[in-house]
Amino acid sequence: MKTVKIGVREYEIVYFSKNNVDPNLFKPNVQEFDDKMAGEIDSLQNKIYISLDQCEESQNQTLMHEIVHGIFRQMGGDPGEIVTDALAEHLYALLLQNFFDFSKKQDLTKAELEEMYSKYYGGKHHEQFADN
Ligand SMILES: [Zn+2]
Repeated sequence: MKTVKIGVREYEIVYFSKNNVDPNLFKPNVQEFDDKMAGEIDSLQNKIYISLDQCEESQNQTLMHEIVHGIFRQMGGDPGEIVTDALAEHLYALLLQNFFDFSKKQDLTKAELEEMYSKYYGGKHHEQFADN
């Protein structure tokens, strides 16, 4: 099962195709499901639906779009499709074009980590920092 964590919530990513769509797959109140639906986020069931009836890049962009919806909803309000789509497009491009990998920080030695934290947090070790 593929999942993505948004804040403290873990969403299951469900890929679907109109060609073999399971009628029980969607929450009952998604009436607008049609051939053009690229994706949907269900914040009550913590599920993100992504259509396979689009190219892989569009699937990825749709996933980012639904993630941004999820972030906005957890922030207290969804600004709508235009803002969501613009931010999702930029985030997707940023991650893709810069080969962004946050895990690189884990490659740092303890000494390098301590140096980094002392530089930014005035000498506090990151574990002490986490306690505050
Ligand atoms: Zn949307």
